[in-house]
Amino acid sequence: MAEHDSIIELMDVRKRYATIKGTDAPMVLNGVKLTVQPGETIAIVGPSGSGKSTLLNMIGTLDRPSEGKVLLNGVDLNTLNERQQAQLRNREIGFIFQEHHLLPQCTALENVQIPTLARKDAALRRVAAETANRLLNRVGLGGQIHHRPGQLSNGQCQRVAVVRALINQPKLLLADEPTGSLDHATAAALTDLLLELNREERVTLIVATHADELANCMNRVVELRDGALWARGD
Ligand code: ADP
Repeated sequence: MAEHDSIIELMDVRKRYATIKGTDAPMVLNGVKLTVQPGETIAIVGPSGSGKSTLLNMIGTLDRPSEGKVLLNGVDLNTLNERQQAQLRNREIGFIFQEHHLLPQCTALENVQIPTLARKDAALRRVAAETANRLLNRVGLGGQIHHRPGQLSNGQCQRVAVVRALINQPKLLLADEPTGSLDHATAAALTDLLLELNREERVTLIVATHADELANCMNRVVELRDGALWARGD
């Protein structure tokens, strides 16, 4: 994908979930505007239920806005069908969640290679295996690559999940409460790691979080309030 001025542009994004009975629910996002430059680190903060996960899902092509546009590297996601969105998601976006969601029966190395298994080309799979080894070493897990999640601490599992998110060398890393299940020291270490990877792997980082310690480490903090985004302090 060609480089574009902004990696993400949200243009008046609105989202309302349909209720089970088909009646309209309130707008969760009600005119969100945001421009993200490549390489930036951004925190989206706001109380529980304010729509942070909903917004990350729009950016990550996991859900579509009810109105408005999301542009990824200048491409309007509304113009892509489901298959094209899935391809884009797999190539360009990495996800980290509050829970690591590793497969318990697979080793760390196997878990991080899962997003690359669809590749038919053996040479590409070999590159992915090398990247997996390099990144697991980079996050300090070189000695545990054949360990299963049950043999790793929670913080180590979250680092495996970070490597899995980066395995396809995405341009954009989306993290939804990535430190939410970690103790203070482990959360601080994961925050440092995310910032180092932002610089080393040149990946744009957007985190949704309650945690001020994490948010304050980002270049920019925006707050979701009443369905709109505000620069913090406004
Ligand atoms: P946050 O991440 O800030 O806690 P969410 O994006 O998870 O907020 O939720 C925002 C609002 O949207 C909440 O009121 C939530 O109940 C509602 N919501 C989230 N997902 C769904 C869904 N799939 N269907 C219906 N309502 C939803």
